[in-house]
Amino acid sequence: MKEKDRFKLDVISPERVLISQEVASVVLLSGLGSSMGVLPRHAPLIAKTNTGTLKIRDINKKETVIFVSSGFIMVSLEGVSIVVRSAEKKEMIDVDRARAAQERAKKRLISRDMYIDLQRAREALVRAEYRLKLARGAAG
Ligand code: ATP
Repeated sequence: MKEKDRFKLDVISPERVLISQEVASVVLLSGLGSSMGVLPRHAPLIAKTNTGTLKIRDINKKETVIFVSSGFIMVSLEGVSIVVRSAEKKEMIDVDRARAAQERAKKRLISRDMYIDLQRAREALVRAEYRLKLARGAAG
């Protein structure tokens, strides 16, 4: 694949550099079917991103879907960096942990406790649901 048909992708969370490789394209799918695709020579940008899945097409046309939580995407001449709170490959997802997080968030959302941070609970629920969806193989 020619140099102009690929770019460097980095997916970084505070705990690890999950991905650092040359790719052909990426598509971020999040909330209500919204998506953002990046191909080589995309215009530079910085944007906030929501929790969702990232479909990565490598230079051999192989596709991989990973989980990404909310963060930022930066597109520059050097490549694409996606900096997020957390990111996992499908095989790294602990399903029991995600189910527990889902239950916890649901309980918080229906609780009448005025000290519950509803937005935080909603975001935790979305993360858990995307993880479960990817682990079941239904995402992307
Ligand atoms: P939890 O309440 O279970 O911590 P969370 O959505 O609040 O879930 P994050 O803040 O997104 O967790 O992630 C914190 C760290 O834990 C990250 O390194 C992330 O990769 C890891 N992590 C969280 N949930 C899972 C999971 N179900 N499987 C694997 N790793 C997970």
